[in-house]
Amino acid sequence: MKEFKGRPVSEAIGKDIREKLSSVETMLGRKPRLAIIRCGEKPSDLTYEKNAARRIREFGMEAESFVFPEDVSDNIFLRSFNALNEDKRIDGILLMRPLPPQLNEGFIISCIDSEKDVDGISPVNAAGLYLGTEGFAPCTAQAVMELLHYYKVELPGKNVVVIGRSNVVGKPLSMLLLKEDATVTICHSRTKDLEKVTKKADILISAIGRARAITSDHIKKGAIVIDVGINTDREGRLCGDVDYEDCKLKAGAITPVPGGVGAVTTAILAKHLFEAANKDLL
Ligand code: NAP
Repeated sequence: MKEFKGRPVSEAIGKDIREKLSSVETMLGRKPRLAIIRCGEKPSDLTYEKNAARRIREFGMEAESFVFPEDVSDNIFLRSFNALNEDKRIDGILLMRPLPPQLNEGFIISCIDSEKDVDGISPVNAAGLYLGTEGFAPCTAQAVMELLHYYKVELPGKNVVVIGRSNVVGKPLSMLLLKEDATVTICHSRTKDLEKVTKKADILISAIGRARAITSDHIKKGAIVIDVGINTDREGRLCGDVDYEDCKLKAGAITPVPGGVGAVTTAILAKHLFEAANKDLL
């Protein structure tokens, strides 16, 4: 069994950005810059923010956090958000979600300048994804594609089963796979006889958020298994949706957790930031 590690994929993305960065910097007169917008101090937000900012800086660009109290009013938040949205020195915006309930998340998302929407959450970018036009896809979905490309996994005509239909992972990923001519099946919590469906997959992608729920009973021999899940098990250890130990003898390849898709997601965020800064020059 091969292990599809995320680090080499992320390093290749970083190398490419660093090689092109100085000419972009010269033309912009500054480094590409990401605004990370967060309300409150949720541990999961803090971890993602730290990892994202570290990756952006590691690749030679800048990240700045804009932090609001958990009980920030709609008015105050919108005013600051709009200022960042219009700020010419900001190339990309990463909004940590879900926002607190007093904020109108749907409206705020609809306001994001689609060219700064490096996490692909705006309706304009979502429409682009479904219409097959240009735009940013959500970073995790794009990270899975990047990983498959890096490890030269053939997609045309392959049976790909995606478990999960969220707007951040399952749905956009299914659209990206379809665009590359895979035969895509989407499963969810109401899917009947999940094992029967997943066993047909040449490539099985799990994004359900349940520790080690996918076992060797779910996969066919030689299948490529991509684990998007980031979970903690009963012992408090970080793990994926896939029971790695149980699947490793049957699968053709697996992404580890940690060190798989997650390691590529922040690199894709950096890549999108670099592309957004480039767009300013056109
Ligand atoms: P989510 O919004 O909770 O969606 C989970 C999806 O899985 C839903 O569509 C749900 O079905 C489905 N599901 C849940 N239990 C299932 C089961 N037993 N059988 C079949 N389908 C089931 O989660 P998400 O935001 O997409 O995230 C999914 C996982 O990816 C989480 O572990 C998250 O931490 C991880 N994640 C990783 C990264 C990364 O960079 N690696 C980034 C984002 C998220 P219904 O729609 O029917 O409820």
